[in-house]
Amino acid sequence: MEDCIFCKIIEGEIPSHKVYEDENVIAFLDTNPTSKGHTLVVPKEHVENIHEASGMDYIWDPIVKVSNAVKDAFNPEGININQNNGEVAGQEVMHMHFHVTPRYTGDEIEIEYNREELENGDEVAEKISEKID
Ligand code: 5GP
Ligand code: ZN
Repeated sequence: MEDCIFCKIIEGEIPSHKVYEDENVIAFLDTNPTSKGHTLVVPKEHVENIHEASGMDYIWDPIVKVSNAVKDAFNPEGININQNNGEVAGQEVMHMHFHVTPRYTGDEIEIEYNREELENGDEVAEKISEKID
């Protein structure tokens, strides 16, 4: 995909700090890491978001491999895996990717959610489940 920064990294047109590559997937360091070892796991096929990612189950093992490697390398106390879809969700690069973000006690990463009590759970669950094939 033209003008996609991650496609350019995949094609080797722009440099990256690659940590893993196989036939379908590449993983490289985030250029603006939120913590030491912050790595992006990216399918080589250009899809914009999770809604286009059916059948890309081959990405799971690399996510686990990279997570294990980051843990062995830097011994974080925890790891967040996150994947943003749409600008409102914080997606900046429109080529789907997973963040492997090591977490260290006292780091200054803030992930805040305002949680409420679940209301109309039956109705909400039904609305979703009836849309699943
Ligand atoms: P998003 O906000 O889309 O979930 O995450 C995009 C991530 O890509 C950001 O964390 C950003 O730092 C990273 N990023 C943006 N441009 C580049 C780049 O050219 N090279 C690398 N390695 N990471 C990038
Ligand atoms: Zn792309």
